[in-house]
Amino acid sequence: MEWETVVGLETHVELNTKTKIFCGCTTAFGGAPNTHCCPVCTGMPGALPTLNRAVVEYAIRTSVALGGQIPPVIRFDRKNYFYPDLPKAYQISQLYLPICVGGSVAIQTEGGERDIGIHEMHMEEDAGKLTHEEGRTRIDYNRCGVPLLEIVTEPDFRTGEEVVAYLEQLKSMLTYLGVSDCKMQEGSLRCDVNLSVRPKGSNALGTRTELKNLSSFRAIAKAVEVEAQRQIKVLEAGGMVVQETRRWDEDANCSYAMRSKESVQDYRYFPDPDLPALCIGADTVAEAERSLPELAPAKRQRYRTAYGLTAYDAEMLTVTPIFAHYFERLVALEVPPKEAANWMLGEVLREKKEQPNREEIPLAPEHLAALIACVIRGDINRNTAAEVFSAVFWQNGDPLVYIQEHGLQQISDTDAIAAVVAQVLAEQAQSVADWKAGKQKAFGFLMGQAMRKLRGQGNPQLVRRQLEEQLK
Ligand code: ADP
Ligand code: MG
Ligand code: ZN
Repeated sequence: MEWETVVGLETHVELNTKTKIFCGCTTAFGGAPNTHCCPVCTGMPGALPTLNRAVVEYAIRTSVALGGQIPPVIRFDRKNYFYPDLPKAYQISQLYLPICVGGSVAIQTEGGERDIGIHEMHMEEDAGKLTHEEGRTRIDYNRCGVPLLEIVTEPDFRTGEEVVAYLEQLKSMLTYLGVSDCKMQEGSLRCDVNLSVRPKGSNALGTRTELKNLSSFRAIAKAVEVEAQRQIKVLEAGGMVVQETRRWDEDANCSYAMRSKESVQDYRYFPDPDLPALCIGADTVAEAERSLPELAPAKRQRYRTAYGLTAYDAEMLTVTPIFAHYFERLVALEVPPKEAANWMLGEVLREKKEQPNREEIPLAPEHLAALIACVIRGDINRNTAAEVFSAVFWQNGDPLVYIQEHGLQQISDTDAIAAVVAQVLAEQAQSVADWKAGKQKAFGFLMGQAMRKLRGQGNPQLVRRQLEEQLK
């Protein structure tokens, strides 16, 4: 029998607001354990939550970008469970009236573009972090109360590749919206995979399992493949899939059962009496729609049509908003778009690979634009420009000052070049004879010799022209 895999995703995104969702504690990552805490986020009796306005703004912005409906009234609910990472013994979340209902994310698949449906998105608080070592468990409440968006899709994925494509789109969207940095390694983007299989052609959903502890896109793609195979094996042997939560073990490439899946009743959800319902006016939503920034897909389209870039260049330039904004700064500084793209995808990318953990581009776009202008004017040649670039990039040095101080201006003085070329031809009689006998390679050698005498600063077009003339 042929089987079809069905996946729905629950993604938790940590918002990059300065403070937590219901208190003024910092959301900064790291910090000594239990130092970013107060009575509210550690659940002390009598402490009352105050909703952080920025969290709601971020959530509205995200709902609008997802194309979902924002209900006119939203509310927070208590999700009750008892576990040491949650000192209140309930998590403030949203069940009945979440901030976003519906919406979709377009992904590219082998068969073309496809929309992944969004079931709903809600705001909630994060829990603390447990570490288990030497038979003891330690608890750090710094993460308690960090704002999260949970984005739940419809069961619309059929392959692990589709899941990864969706996550890439989502990550791009959230970083362009400026609501999260989406760093999987720091836990600011976490996903749970819900997966079932069914006979191909069937419309009914099979029994699903939920996979947790997926720490990279690669792990997610692998987990989907392995879990689908596991379920198919169970079913083909005449067994039944047990609805349960399973933990993915990245090193062993397999999952094992953690606990039977709890149902919504187990959490005894009810509206949080400490937090009033919130009315979200049509004007607020309209304003969010108006001020939505341009997202990556629209930028890609515009780079191709307005700037004539290739699909590949447009794709590469929009991978992160930092890159795209830098590119747009260069263009605003009157660097020809194609030239700007070449520099960014050549020299800038090459330098950035040296320090992959640094996100910003240290060299001011004004400096790079000035350097590119030098090349275009013919003040320096491209090879020299690349050297200058490497020298000033990380310190944000002024390339014009560097060129001055190191005497790197290109030599475009025809008489000087003619004299050097004549000297080279006199010295390299053998190569001249080779060239006259038809050996093309000899030309490159003579060119190299002349450039060497000019300390690499000769204008290549002029050197070439002189050589051609004097060899006639
Ligand atoms: P819960 O609240 O128990 O986590 P939900 O009904 O909210 O469950 O669904 C969570 C996720 O699981 C959603 O993304 C949904 O699309 C997906 N899902 C639900 N049922 C199935 C199924 N049978 N197979 C695959 N995915 C499913
Ligand atoms: Mg769930
Ligand atoms: Zn606090």
